[in-house]
Amino acid sequence: MTNAAEKLNRAGRSHSGFVRIPYCLMGRTIMCNGKQRKLGGSALLLCSAIYSFSADGGTGDFTYRELEERYRITRSSSSRSVRIVLENDLAERGSSVHEYRIKGIKEDEPYLYVEDWLYHATFDLGGAACYLSKNEVLVLSYLISFCKNKKAFVSSYRRIAARLPFGKDTVKKSIERLKGMQIVFTEGAAKNNYELSRYHVNGKLLRAKREETVVRAKGKSSAVKDADARAERERYYAARRNEAQRREEQMNARARADVTYREAEKKSRALDIRIGKAEALNLPDLDELRREQETVRQIMAQRLHAMNLTPDDLLPHYACAKCRDTGYLPDGRPCGCYPERTGRRRT
Ligand SMILES: [Zn+2]
Repeated sequence: MTNAAEKLNRAGRSHSGFVRIPYCLMGRTIMCNGKQRKLGGSALLLCSAIYSFSADGGTGDFTYRELEERYRITRSSSSRSVRIVLENDLAERGSSVHEYRIKGIKEDEPYLYVEDWLYHATFDLGGAACYLSKNEVLVLSYLISFCKNKKAFVSSYRRIAARLPFGKDTVKKSIERLKGMQIVFTEGAAKNNYELSRYHVNGKLLRAKREETVVRAKGKSSAVKDADARAERERYYAARRNEAQRREEQMNARARADVTYREAEKKSRALDIRIGKAEALNLPDLDELRREQETVRQIMAQRLHAMNLTPDDLLPHYACAKCRDTGYLPDGRPCGCYPERTGRRRT
């Protein structure tokens, strides 16, 4: 186990850590007791924790007790989750019983940044103190990721559900509860799953709860300081990538508002699949499919031009081209674009 991961692991009880939940794991189909279902809840969290801690080729080391202290996963859930994760080949055991190594997820996978303390804070709901459920933590973290600097996030239940590992009804229920706890506010009450709302998060309440929940280490050791610095660096890059993603989504939504463009894009995607198949199987209609693809692409280009958009507008624009705002260069070394001390604020 690497030194940095060890330091972070020890921070578990302070709730000051964070976990990276890769989007590619959300909604992953797994087998559980002979039945197919989606990877969710505690198993998703465990898998993400292993992923977060096995950065730099290390392993994640978790006893059931640590999982309970860190994420409020009960022992029975923990043992079930470990079984699901190992049986579905998402991770493998390291050299000791409680050591796990993630399998098949790249270091630079897009992920949702979730702060540990959210699993431990209690919020007032109709006079009763409530913890957030695992699903509520995911929905809230997703909203937070888009609501930095008091910005509103425009979305619908359906769109949010498309990114998270559960359906629109769960999203709706979670948001209703978050609203009841005064953590989330919306403008425009969505009457159905398609309608858009403007979401705001209550930054003041969240900061106060964070302050209350995180156990401050007195006279921080250099190990804890290192772990804090690493967490801050992650937060910095997560915010930058979110900014690029938000812009990309906005630009694509603008282009897709045009019916002709939207239909052409759909057709182009279908053609891509057919061309791939034709190439692999050496089918005779390959040339014709390519010609058709060319025509469709021209239509898309024309529509974009008419809307004053360029193909480049539809791609994510990273502030740093070298690391694509991940903070790491392709060879794994840290990128030099991280500002030292100045220009950064804790969120
Ligand atoms: Zn960079």
